[in-house]
Amino acid sequence: MIRFLLSALLLIMAAPVAAEWHRDSQDIMGTKIDVVLWHEDETAAAEALDLVMDEMHRINAHYSPYLLDSDLSLINRLAPKASASDPVFISKEMALLLDKSLYYSRITEGAFDITFASLGRYYDYRAEETPSDTQRQELLPAIDYRLVHLDALQPSVYFGRPEVHIDLGGIAKGYAVDRALALLSDAGIEHASVSAGGDTGLIGDRRGRPWMVGIKNPRAPEQVAIVLPLEQGAISTSGDYERYFIDSDGKRVHHIINPSKGTSASGVASASVIGPNAVDTDALSTSVFVLGVDKGLALLESLPGYDGVIISSAGKVHYSSGLQPPEELQSEQ
Ligand code: ADP
Ligand code: MG
Repeated sequence: MIRFLLSALLLIMAAPVAAEWHRDSQDIMGTKIDVVLWHEDETAAAEALDLVMDEMHRINAHYSPYLLDSDLSLINRLAPKASASDPVFISKEMALLLDKSLYYSRITEGAFDITFASLGRYYDYRAEETPSDTQRQELLPAIDYRLVHLDALQPSVYFGRPEVHIDLGGIAKGYAVDRALALLSDAGIEHASVSAGGDTGLIGDRRGRPWMVGIKNPRAPEQVAIVLPLEQGAISTSGDYERYFIDSDGKRVHHIINPSKGTSASGVASASVIGPNAVDTDALSTSVFVLGVDKGLALLESLPGYDGVIISSAGKVHYSSGLQPPEELQSEQ
């Protein structure tokens, strides 16, 4: 009875505190943007939430493959016809995103490759359509990050083949999350969580407690399979359940493409990566998904400050060494 009273009392005491968490949720960039932040002032909190949503709209306007007047669409129209002597001039921010993307292509030996879209753009997951055999033959050679010629200093770009097409879907949401966190930090916010679909960035903790970030069960995505307590930093998950259909052979056709084959990457159902910044965890979660369990874990082990959880297509869960329980606990299991 005393314990009950005590917990009731704690609940009452907690009530005004809980009122100082502020949240907003909107559909932008083809995904759900969720923001939670702590602020003692209601007006300032509302302004901070707006700041984040405005930034999401700005990033969508520049990098969406669906908007014909986005910077990305412009590059895709002009860069195939451009050349070293007559490149397409781009913003510094676009150069930064392309530079990052090419960096991840190099360290993953092409598992992460924004030119996947040369062929990948002919997948329509809603209409359950895949590229034709002719398209496959013609366009597979145009999946090659080395065909993206970037000058990051005089920000400009041209493509080495007319069929090259790029898409930033594997990195732009992570970048957007980082931008949102930077704006919130600048506004003096010390506790916040921003997520854009599978990419989450955290400022601080949840006032004395860690944030609890869930990894979905890939075969029942409404269920959370694994919960990770996290503070400050980012986590991204790439899953084969986000955009997919099952084809007439019973095969899962989904939105993460193995650039060497031009087909949906197989072997992994979900790959989650934890690290300091969401732009990096986003690119890495896509990379690890494509690389598969062994090479994916090896990549994470080679990068200080990164960890991950991979759920294989067979449902087996693999953790990188930083997430393994200490040895003395393991031996008791
Ligand atoms: P999402 O949160 O959209 O599921 P992911 O981080 O899992 O994002 O990345 C999937 C997206 O990345 C795809 O929708 C596509 O735009 C892009 N993509 C697919 N395959 C690759 C690849 N091999 N390299 C880089 N980007 C890719
Ligand atoms: Mg990703």
